Amino acid sequence: MKIKLLPSTIDAEGRASPEQRLSCFVVDGRVCIDAGSIAIGLTEEERGAVRDVIITHPHMDHVATLPIFIDDLFATLEQPVRVHATEEVIHLIERDIFNWTVYPRFSELKNEKTPVMSYVPFRHGEEFRVAHLSVTAIPVNHIVPTVGLIIRDGRTAVGFSSDTAATEEFWQALNRLGRLDALLVEASFPNSMARLAEVSGHLTPDALGRELLKLRHNHLDILAMHLKPSYRRVLVKELEALSIPNLRTMEAGHDYVW
Ligand SMILES: [Zn+2]
Ligand SMILES: [Zn+2]
Repeated sequence: MKIKLLPSTIDAEGRASPEQRLSCFVVDGRVCIDAGSIAIGLTEEERGAVRDVIITHPHMDHVATLPIFIDDLFATLEQPVRVHATEEVIHLIERDIFNWTVYPRFSELKNEKTPVMSYVPFRHGEEFRVAHLSVTAIPVNHIVPTVGLIIRDGRTAVGFSSDTAATEEFWQALNRLGRLDALLVEASFPNSMARLAEVSGHLTPDALGRELLKLRHNHLDILAMHLKPSYRRVLVKELEALSIPNLRTMEAGHDYVW
């Protein structure tokens, strides 16, 4: 399985920079997890191949350019862009984004060949198919309805925490797996901001260290993501200071393969 965090920030020379402002992860060039930078970070080949998008929660950094992505493809789509999410998240993005005010309600629109967007609801804890992947969604502890994910391709299993503070069910679900190859886990705020992290439903590096004690798998790659750009440098240092084997900071634009 190949996973890439899309870049979402451009530096003064016009190049992608490491800061992660938006969340969008491309799996095997054809499925996106969240859609923050989906309209701005995909290659042309990926733009032609991605027709399935899993939305973990409706926060702007996770859905920001989903409407633009569908808008770009509107005339050329031969099948809908399928948005996979829980019923409650579908309701929230229909109400607050695709509401004819912020953006047109694409779920009601067609081009000459096909509806341009369709919703594919999934339920907590029940495995579902997305393209070639089997996915299970587990509720996590954020300030809006949010799921973490277990993603499998028949060989490899990867966990994705999405945005969360300290949580239980997600770790229990990972512990039930026979194997876990990699974990993408959030670390949003530095240790000095533990209070803000807690009330906003996020982890600090110290809180992440405590969460990882709940995980029974060993020898997996652990990639820290969702580092708030303003604190990136201190976050990288604090993550290193945890001295957890195989824990790295996830770099945008890089292909991670398991
Ligand atoms: Zn969030
Ligand atoms: Zn977020």
